[in-house]
Amino acid sequence: MSTDGFDIMCKSASLEAAAAGRFDVLPIYDRDTECASREELEALQLSKLQDQVRYTYERVPYYRERMDAAGVGPDGIRTLEDVRLLPFTDKSALRETYPYGLFAVGLDEVREIHASSGTTGKPIVVGYTEADMDVWSDCIARLVQMAGVVPADNAQMAFGYGMFTGGFGLHYGLQKLGCTMIPAGAGNTERHIQMIEDYGTTVLIATPSYAMHICEVGEEMGYDWAASPLRVGLFGGEPCPPGLKAEIERRMHIVCTDNYGLTEVMGPGVSGECLASRDQQHIAEDHFLWEVVDPETGEPVPEGEMGELVLTPLDKQAIPVLRYRTHDLTRVTRETCACGRTHARMDKVRSRSDDMLIIRGTNVFPSQIEDVLSQIDEVTPHYRIIVETVDGMDALTVQTEIRPESFTDSFEELDAMRRRIEEKLKSVLLVGVRVTLVEPGGIQRTQGKAKHVEDRR
Ligand SMILES: [Zn+2]
Repeated sequence: MSTDGFDIMCKSASLEAAAAGRFDVLPIYDRDTECASREELEALQLSKLQDQVRYTYERVPYYRERMDAAGVGPDGIRTLEDVRLLPFTDKSALRETYPYGLFAVGLDEVREIHASSGTTGKPIVVGYTEADMDVWSDCIARLVQMAGVVPADNAQMAFGYGMFTGGFGLHYGLQKLGCTMIPAGAGNTERHIQMIEDYGTTVLIATPSYAMHICEVGEEMGYDWAASPLRVGLFGGEPCPPGLKAEIERRMHIVCTDNYGLTEVMGPGVSGECLASRDQQHIAEDHFLWEVVDPETGEPVPEGEMGELVLTPLDKQAIPVLRYRTHDLTRVTRETCACGRTHARMDKVRSRSDDMLIIRGTNVFPSQIEDVLSQIDEVTPHYRIIVETVDGMDALTVQTEIRPESFTDSFEELDAMRRRIEEKLKSVLLVGVRVTLVEPGGIQRTQGKAKHVEDRR
């Protein structure tokens, strides 16, 4: 079976084509838009930005008041840089106006409501009009095609549906591309594996930690992943550590990509990883204007430098949002990509400015710990970080799981391994850390987002 010059019956066709530099055989969902010149793209962005700012000002009193206070009206936006004249939006704006205070249309025009579960305070509620749902599913169709998914694929959903944007977002986008959806939902791992085999599932949508769990359960059941029809993993819902992704690819014999998005600006679909540039993700620049700012000052950082991603959706009808501060740290490049797409690429988000742990005055990001562990052959990608107060001081403990093949009964060997990992962590984090080795399978697996950090302070 061949689609777009590309044999999907070959389990790793997309990865083989990518490895051979044959990006010409990899399909592009909306070539005119995704490969537009920078000039065309910027002209489109400016005209959409001007319309979006006027629409928001006229329809949402919350923004009208703030723009008036900042002394900027819709006519003040003459260039793309003028976006900086607009006030930022933070999560608090969506909480303060709960549930519908930022909506620009009546509920009669809203086709769907989604919400993110707030761990503190009220949830974030967002809505989509018919046109918003069209943009959303288009953005997803693009990014799944970047991962090598084609209309002939059968896609099995292991996200929960419910109010979370991830489940329905991917569902609609994959359907728009022409795939067959298998809405299995979260949980019941053995049933997932049975369905993959019985229904001929070629694409699995899951959090990376749950995909790893499915992989391990399959291995325990004696399921042969190399012979399985599954060939692509679409990850989301949590950042995917590179070590975990490589491990899943190796053990499940599939190609995995992840994508980025957040409920406040749309849900998944803001950016996606292509097979040519596997640590970066193309931003859908015709729908999102991006800025990278210094998280402290809010001022732009020089192009290519690390900072906080700020997003302005350019054509949202139900709930327009101006300059949304994501708190996600990344950097963006406009260099052309080998896949042929011209849309800018952002580094995968590994750290959020609000995930930072302060340990005895030093800033520590969980992603730094993840990176160190991924370089150690004897441990799996499963880990936990525990921060507590001991004798009035911050104490950092990292629990890491030994691979079955590296497990030994020798206390001396285990202790030497433990001390070696402690030394490596200390040299990167610049704070003292205690490592606890856990036996294979000893760190709890989750069916949703993995919870790596437990701050007991
Ligand atoms: Zn690319």
